[in-house]
Amino acid sequence: MWIMPLEWDALYRRAYDGVNYRLRGFAGGRLAGLCRPTSVVFLLTELCNAKCVHCDIWRNKGKEDSPTLDQWKTVVRDLRSWLGPIHVAFSGGEALLRPFTTDLAAYASELGLFLEVLTHGYWDDQSRIEKLALARPGRITMSIDGIGDTHSLVRGREKFWEKSFTSLQTLKRVREEKNLGYVIRLKTVVMSHNLHDVANVAKFAAENGMEVFY
Ligand code: SF4
Repeated sequence: MWIMPLEWDALYRRAYDGVNYRLRGFAGGRLAGLCRPTSVVFLLTELCNAKCVHCDIWRNKGKEDSPTLDQWKTVVRDLRSWLGPIHVAFSGGEALLRPFTTDLAAYASELGLFLEVLTHGYWDDQSRIEKLALARPGRITMSIDGIGDTHSLVRGREKFWEKSFTSLQTLKRVREEKNLGYVIRLKTVVMSHNLHDVANVAKFAAENGMEVFY
């Protein structure tokens, strides 16, 4: 498979997204059936080690019957051949619970896909976060619902903020040390539990070279 230079990938995505978005409404929607996906999200697992107040996924227990690394690689490669270097996201559950997620991420990045990986960052083992950074995704998105105790309360485990914060510091450090270009995005679910703190997330993002998405 021919891999385009990075800047061509970005140009391709802009043109591809523009055409597909416009096609939906063009001619009263009669051509909408020709549209192709502009973004594909893979749920690598339905397990999670957080305990969020707004989600029940963490209640799932037991062994999962999900694809192997080689099977995922085949899917990712086929997708790249079909649609080109589009936006692909790895999510879950907690995507980093899968031991092969960082290897799969490196593979998807090498294929030229604009890869986003979502994580809650609740990891003591920072080598996992470093490996994710070195997989060269286009964006790493971390769920952050507030600063300090608000975040830990929403995420349902003690010291959640402290661990997520450490992971964010690792992402910043590796980005700088290795001169990598990934965006660090903070993703905030707005709810009554954190309404008082959502502006602080934006402030934190601005002060730390990150972006925020509500
Ligand atoms: S981190 Fe995400 S998947 Fe896990 S319990 Fe919270 S919202 Fe659900």
